[in-house]
Amino acid sequence: MSFPAEGLPPAEILAALRSFKTTDLDWQRGRVWAYIYQPDEAATTLIEQAYLLYLSENCLDPTTFPSTARLEQEVVRMVADLLGGDEQVCGNVTSGGTESILLAVKTARDWARLHRPTLDQPEMVLSRTAHAAFHKAAHYLGVKPVIVDFDPATFTADVQAMRSAITDRTILLVASAPSYAQGALDPVPAIAALAQEYGLLCHVDACVGGMYLPFLRQLGRPITPFDLSVPGVTSLSVDLHKYGYAAKGASVILYRNRALRRCQLFASTDTTAYTLINPTALSSRSAGPLAAAWALVHYLGAAGYRQMVATVQAATERLIAGIAAIPGLEVLGQPVMSMLAVASPTINVFQLADALRRRGWYVQPQLSTPHSPRNIHLSVSYGVAGQVEALLADLAACVAEAPQWPPVNRELVEMAVAILLRDRSPAALQQLWQAIGLRAGELPAEMALINEVLDALPDAVANELVIDVFNTLF
Ligand SMILES: *Cc1c(COP(=O)(O)O)cnc(C)c1O
Repeated sequence: MSFPAEGLPPAEILAALRSFKTTDLDWQRGRVWAYIYQPDEAATTLIEQAYLLYLSENCLDPTTFPSTARLEQEVVRMVADLLGGDEQVCGNVTSGGTESILLAVKTARDWARLHRPTLDQPEMVLSRTAHAAFHKAAHYLGVKPVIVDFDPATFTADVQAMRSAITDRTILLVASAPSYAQGALDPVPAIAALAQEYGLLCHVDACVGGMYLPFLRQLGRPITPFDLSVPGVTSLSVDLHKYGYAAKGASVILYRNRALRRCQLFASTDTTAYTLINPTALSSRSAGPLAAAWALVHYLGAAGYRQMVATVQAATERLIAGIAAIPGLEVLGQPVMSMLAVASPTINVFQLADALRRRGWYVQPQLSTPHSPRNIHLSVSYGVAGQVEALLADLAACVAEAPQWPPVNRELVEMAVAILLRDRSPAALQQLWQAIGLRAGELPAEMALINEVLDALPDAVANELVIDVFNTLF
C-alpha cells in the first residue's frame, strides 16, 4: 500500500475501519473468552465519553496538565485503599500489566544496585505459573529468572522450592494473585515472609485478581490475604483494564513506600531538549485510558464491582460444574476466581480449541509443562457470563464429535520437530511450511498442528520458532 496522495472523506474512512473488523471474532456476542472485559452498555458509554474528554491531554508533563496528575494520584489512592495500602503506599498508572511488571522488576534491580552494589548478576525467583511478563522483564533488564516448580495438584507456587532457589544473587520473589493460566492464588503470606527472612523484595502480581478478589471477599468468600496488608509485600500490580473493566491501557503499580518507588523513576537533562522526567516506561501518552479508568471506578464503586463479581462468580461456578459433568474434561487445580483451565486425558484439547473456533468461540490453547498437561484457558468476565450454557452445549457437542476428528499427523509433527531442532534457517522454515501445506505468510485455519509442534519442542527452540514465524507473517 502506497502513501495516500490525497485525503479521503471521513465517512469513507470510517466505513473502511468498520469493514476491517468483520474478519475479527465476534466478541460483542460473548464468544471470546480472553482479551475482552466488557461492562454493560451504560458503563461502556461512560468509558467512551471520559476517554474522548482526555484524548489529547498528555500525561508526559503534569506541570502543564495538572489534571492528569490529579487523576493518576486519585486512581492510585483508590486502588491502594482497596488493596490494603496505608498512607506510605504510592505508585503510578501504567499502560498495562506488562508495563507494571517491567517497572517492578526494574525497581528491584535498581534497589539492589543501590543497596548491594557488588552484586553483578541479579536473579528473581518465580514459579512456572507466573506470567510471561516477568520473563520479558528479565530479558529486557538483565535479571536472571530462576523458575521453580509448582504444586501440581493446586497449581500454586511451592514455597519450599522457592526457598531452595534463593542464592546470594536473589533480589526478588514473585507471587501471583492469582495466576492467569489456572487462576491459582499463591500462598502470598508465606512467600512474603520468606522474602523478609532473606531481606528480599516481594512483588505480588494481582494484575488479574486485584480488582476481583477484594469484592469476592466482601461477598463473604474466604480469600487468603494477598495484598499490601501482608507484611513483606513490597510491590503489587493490578490491571484496571481487566476486572476493573476500564478501557485498555490502564494498570496500577503500587509500592510499599517512596524510597522503593524512587528506583522506578527516570530523568534526563542530558540532551538539547526539555528536562525529561518519566515515572513509567512510556513518555508521551494520552490521558484517555486514565480518565476512563477514573470515571469507571467512580461510576461502579465497590457496590457496582461487587454486583459484577457476584454475576461472574456464579457463571464461573456453573461453568465449572458443567465441565465436570462432561466425561473426558477436567478443570485443573482449584481456581480461586473466574480464570480456569480445562484439560483432557482422552481428547486432544488443541483440536478441541479448533472445534470450538469452528463454532464461533475463542478459547486459548495452553502448552504442557513438565508438571502439567496441555489445556485450554477460559477467562469468565461480565460480557461472556450470559453465554455459559451456550458454551457448555457446544463443549459437550465437540467432545461427542471428537472420535470423528482426523487424528493429528504424528509423522508430520515428528518431522517438523526434527527439522527445527537441527535447523531454523529461512530455507528450513520454508520447507516446513510447505510440508504443512501452507505458503509463507499464511497461518492455518486449524492451529492444532502448530500447537502440537510447539508443545513438543524445548521452550527455548519454541520461543525462537514463534519469533521467526511472527517475523515472517506480520
Ligand atoms: C494480564 C496479566 C499480565 C499482563 O498484563 P497485560 O495487561 O496483558 O500487559 C500479567 N500478569 C497477570 C496475572 C495477568 O493476568
